[in-house]
Amino acid sequence: MGLFSKKDACPVCGGEVKGLFLIKIGDKQTLCKNCSKQISMNKSLLETATPEFIREHLDYRKKNAEKYASHNWSVKIHSIPGFQFGLDEAGKAIYLIHDDLHDNEDNPVVLSFDQLTGYELYRRKKKMDDMENTGPITLDTKLSAIGGIAQFAGNKTASAESFQLKLTTTDPYWKEMDIKIDFTSTQLHGLGGFAKDMRQVCQIIKNIIRKEPIRYES
Ligand SMILES: [Zn+2]
Repeated sequence: MGLFSKKDACPVCGGEVKGLFLIKIGDKQTLCKNCSKQISMNKSLLETATPEFIREHLDYRKKNAEKYASHNWSVKIHSIPGFQFGLDEAGKAIYLIHDDLHDNEDNPVVLSFDQLTGYELYRRKKKMDDMENTGPITLDTKLSAIGGIAQFAGNKTASAESFQLKLTTTDPYWKEMDIKIDFTSTQLHGLGGFAKDMRQVCQIIKNIIRKEPIRYES
């Protein structure tokens, strides 16, 4: 009977296809858990992916993990909800970890500086910043720190907001990234808020794309 009948083997490795959150590729084929968790690519590529395309990708991901291990990540910004960022300035690379990238601490997406080509930051779907803007990034044009906290205390749902960090790269699997960060005003501005770290990440990415010296906020 349908639900518990024996499923096909994984088209990539031949393993058993069982469990939740399995990735589907072209021709309605489902990958096993082990293959699924190693994949990090734009969803649109999966729709037409063949087993051979996935095998090449898994090889690429293995090399990515080696690249990640070989860098000296002198700057790590891990305070932003659901998002982690690292920089190796001397080694000219960054890493990004987020559910939207389907990666994790074991194998973050690593990009060399010359792979980054575009950057835009949105808040509540409104563009806040992009690579053409050379001025400082202001993340609190709408809500002051105090206003945000007051609103949060009065109505929890009203202050839920989101950032979207949109990047374009020359990475074959991530030509476009759309990273969504959900937060509340208190998380952004309050005690231990991440507004400064969000600005810092955007500033670093902008400096890299504009081939400027990287500016840190002290
Ligand atoms: Zn498999």
